[in-house]
Amino acid sequence: MTNHTDGRVWLITGCSSGFGRELVLAALAAGDRVMATARRPETLSGLADIGGERLSTAALDVTDPASVDAAVKATLAVFGRIDVVVNNAGSMILGAVEEVSMDDLRAQMEVNYFGAAEVTRAVVPLMRERGSGTIVQMSSLGGLKTYPGFGAYHAAKWALEGLSETLSAELAPLGVRVLIVEPGAFRTEFNRNIRKAREIGAYHQTSGATREMTNQLLDAEPNDPVKGAAAILQAVGSANPPLRLVLGDEAVDGVREHHEALLAEVTAWETLSRSTAMS
Ligand code: NDP
Repeated sequence: MTNHTDGRVWLITGCSSGFGRELVLAALAAGDRVMATARRPETLSGLADIGGERLSTAALDVTDPASVDAAVKATLAVFGRIDVVVNNAGSMILGAVEEVSMDDLRAQMEVNYFGAAEVTRAVVPLMRERGSGTIVQMSSLGGLKTYPGFGAYHAAKWALEGLSETLSAELAPLGVRVLIVEPGAFRTEFNRNIRKAREIGAYHQTSGATREMTNQLLDAEPNDPVKGAAAILQAVGSANPPLRLVLGDEAVDGVREHHEALLAEVTAWETLSRSTAMS
């Protein structure tokens, strides 16, 4: 049954597992209505029993623009509007820059950057015309700092960061918010789903060490996606939300260390940096 009056309306990508699934459950528990999407919609069947009329599902592969368009139209047809969109779908290819192929690099951009951009651009006009709405971008600690072996993923998430920070400045005067989420390591299916590129021995100490770290983190990730989803809901519901919501101890420490090191380097080279003015 169509209901245009109660609660916020969410459109969430990548709801088969992890953050996406937990965000669906958290939004439903808050009394909101959700269009839960996945590239394999059969993975969403269990959610229907929980959500009842406040839940609808659609097939959405973020690399398929026609499915993005159809899912947005389906959300409007069922719920009448979109208040919160969550670009959650994501994946990782692990390997040193030399170890990954150009196809790998492009595939990471397609899912983690162009996919999110496609969904974002599909909802921006709707939110802009209504003068309200929140665009939630699931980035990563890896969207703000880097580790050897994650270059393809970092490149796509840093691109998403740049697009989203810009979008925030463009949309803020028009009443639409952007929230960029920067999780550390959370116990979802993410780590298990990492695709590993061929190995080159020369990278044993760098990318190889990161491969080993991800093996050790499997099922031992320090953060809980249920708590992560609750934190995202709290930020979305806040009267004064941040542009970036960092989630997890190691993410807070990592962002702080990265930015302190960046500032220290700017300071150390400041005289040379300032020596380029026209005389
Ligand atoms: P999961 O692997 O549990 O979930 C990823 C989701 O993305 C799955 O539903 C997957 O669907 C979906 N997905 C992948 N490719 C596509 C596609 N082309 N179209 C639509 N859906 C797709 O991991 P998380 O829940 O952890 O990941 C969610 C987001 O959080 C990602 O953007 C990730 O980068 C980010 N993140 C996660 C961290 C973590 O430690 N877990 C840390 C930092 C950021 P399918 O089942 O079909 O593959």
